[in-house]
Amino acid sequence: MPEQSVFAAELSWADYDARVRGGDTPILLPIGSMEQHGHHMPMNVDVLLPVEFARRVASRIGALVAPPFTYGYKSHQKSGGGNHLPGTTSLDGATLVAALRDVLKEFARHGVRRICLFNGHFENSWFIIEGIDLALRELKWSGIDDMKVVVLSYWDFVDKDTINRLYPKGFPGWEIEHGGVLETSLMLALYPEQVRLERAIDHAPASFPPYDVYPPKPEWTPASGTLSSPKEASAEKGEILLQVCADGIVKALETEFPR
Ligand code: ZN
Ligand code: MN
Repeated sequence: MPEQSVFAAELSWADYDARVRGGDTPILLPIGSMEQHGHHMPMNVDVLLPVEFARRVASRIGALVAPPFTYGYKSHQKSGGGNHLPGTTSLDGATLVAALRDVLKEFARHGVRRICLFNGHFENSWFIIEGIDLALRELKWSGIDDMKVVVLSYWDFVDKDTINRLYPKGFPGWEIEHGGVLETSLMLALYPEQVRLERAIDHAPASFPPYDVYPPKPEWTPASGTLSSPKEASAEKGEILLQVCADGIVKALETEFPR
């Protein structure tokens, strides 16, 4: 058991208590999903990536990383292929909201007053906000009104210049980056042994009509499960993304959580 890990759950309770009791140490909480990511990647991509960003950022700003949420809200057809796909395993919105609210209130009980949610799965977005809102409201009722929560998704820290460098043939948009160049490049940089690029299916970017249908029409989702081709992914692109996003997140948290 390490005395000084950035992973909160690897500490003893006493070491953890000493770090968080005063309220200055931020807790970084990754939130992902179990979701298919094409034939070339495992289903925990949305967990692995925010955990790694949180780990890198934590060591630079003196924060701790909480155990991640490994299930998320249901995959949407236009951003994750759809919840009908085999393997994808999701929570109802109310379940995610309630679980997140509980965990935020637990950290508050320990003395934590600064929390940053690292979202790795687009569909979680509004449920995260609801969980925060309910937690802050209940904490306020209990007399705790100095909790601050930051929410971010690492891909929002990719600037225009970087997009042009990474997508010389044109950027398809974050919403159809599911299993595409962004996530695959990051996985190649971090966990190359978990990527089977030779199994990746090259296809045109998915195109959807400007409305949704329920139950979803499976034929709208490319057969691969990815929404854009990962063929142009590379570890070099992943390294660029790691640096740009980690630097951007550190800067944001140094602003919001001044030491
Ligand atoms: Zn993903
Ligand atoms: Mn996802």
